Amino acid sequence: MTSIATQIKINEVLEQLGIQEINPGTSTGSQHFSTGDILESYSPVDGQLIAKVTTTTASEYEKVILTATAAFQTFRQIPAPKRGEIVRQFGDKLRQNKEALGKLVSYEMGKSLQEGYGEVQEMIDICDFAVGLSRQLHGLTMHSERPGHRMYEQYHSLGIVGIISAFNFPVAVWAWNTALAWVCGDVCVWKPSEKTPLCGIACQNIIAEVLKENNLPEGISCLINGDYTVGERMTQDSRIPLISATGSTRMGKIVAQTVAARLGKSLLELGGNNAIIVTPDADIKMTIIGAVFGAVGTAGQRCTSTRRLIIHESIYNKVKQALTDAYKQLRIGNPLDENNHIGPIIDQNAVKQYQQALDKIIKEGGKLIVPGGVLSGEGYESGCYVQPVIAEVENHFEIVQCETFAPILYLMKYSGSVESAIALQNGVAQGLSSAIMTNNLREAELFLSVAGSDCGIANVNIGTSGAEIGGAFGGEKETGGGRESGSDAWKVYMRRQTNTINYTTSLPLAQGIKFDLD
Ligand code: NAD
Repeated sequence: MTSIATQIKINEVLEQLGIQEINPGTSTGSQHFSTGDILESYSPVDGQLIAKVTTTTASEYEKVILTATAAFQTFRQIPAPKRGEIVRQFGDKLRQNKEALGKLVSYEMGKSLQEGYGEVQEMIDICDFAVGLSRQLHGLTMHSERPGHRMYEQYHSLGIVGIISAFNFPVAVWAWNTALAWVCGDVCVWKPSEKTPLCGIACQNIIAEVLKENNLPEGISCLINGDYTVGERMTQDSRIPLISATGSTRMGKIVAQTVAARLGKSLLELGGNNAIIVTPDADIKMTIIGAVFGAVGTAGQRCTSTRRLIIHESIYNKVKQALTDAYKQLRIGNPLDENNHIGPIIDQNAVKQYQQALDKIIKEGGKLIVPGGVLSGEGYESGCYVQPVIAEVENHFEIVQCETFAPILYLMKYSGSVESAIALQNGVAQGLSSAIMTNNLREAELFLSVAGSDCGIANVNIGTSGAEIGGAFGGEKETGGGRESGSDAWKVYMRRQTNTINYTTSLPLAQGIKFDLD
């Protein structure tokens, strides 16, 4: 069998993206330096070592923060539309590198090549969005209660935005943050996941070129590498006013407390436990496509992956049968081969968690109707390929209440009206994405009403995964409450200032308070 690395000519990909055998994982634009421990990046696709990265030491971290702080002084003075022009050029560079970067995402993280390209496309889309936004960073004007006074609000750049990201969207999450932060006049320091460091280096190399071509300070985009200890340095650092952290709820709870202890701001994008409600009025064919893609896409490793299907008892057996038939068609294997639907999960530890979850389902009284298993043999040498699972469970099972980052889909029944399905859907600690499949207007509107889904994302006749960049993205409850990407998510990257100007010769006080001096 031809090695996968040869199939995608990984050396050519790495060369195009400026990645060497050993890479300095600390960089401020064109300056690459780091002397910390070595981080090895293995591909879950074929188990091969792709390259090594040196991590950021404490003193190197200091240097990065000083460089970023200095860059901010310059960058914030550049008019926002001119900063938008830099983001436009960055979007163009991403277009030129889409194929190489998409392949690296697929090979280092394990998602399908189509999804790897999709992730880069999402970066390009957010750049386009941010360019327009750079001319729309507006506040309101208000009428003052005092004569001869003018009142308005404006948004100013915040400073350094610290970005901590997860392995499953190794490039897009960074761009969601940076494209907006840069037009807002902020500078960024990024710590990518220790599981996908090469994607971080590739992105940094692309933006470094843009900054160099425009004679801009390299500290506008900084990269630091390492495990959670490097992330901790950022969360404790009061020179970073905003920490945008994407990852598990476990991580988010620690980050939230650390940042709050210094009264910093945090933007948290954490775990999900997303459900689709299937009502008697659902279009079954659409439901099956939405549910299967939602459950097995990215091998169940999206924060928005469909974890639970809440099906009305009257159609339960029909949906269950259609799903098990659909699962028989799924092809698992090399994600760079477009014939396959499902690639590997990220590493051996994730495989262990998948196996433990299956044991727990049975222990708690659940039933595996598509039983799953770990694949071995030719093409599966990395040991990271698992079969997708369908299990019948109760919503209150401890395992169902947790997010297992693997392709495991839980089926559960509801009876009576859609209110009871909504109660099940909301009956978990997480609140990211949700969906209802129905052609009944009353059910759909109820689901979207204040008495409906309690999630940050609620869809009708669409699955739970696959958000567009135009909307604000994020979730409630243990998903962390943050919003990124579209709509007015940009406001978190700026500080708001309210201004009142008196253009009279007297000094009337607000609320009519009298304070006279002779
Ligand atoms: P993870 O929590 O293990 O790690 C995420 C990042 O946090 C890594 O860079 C890690 O080094 C860092 N980190 C961990 N502990 C830290 C600490 N105490 N202080 C500072 N940094 C710390 O998550 P993962 O396994 O990489 O990603 C999967 C998780 O991410 C899932 O729960 C998934 O739902 C979630 N996720 C959420 C979104 C969203 O937008 N809501 C998007 C992608 C992934």
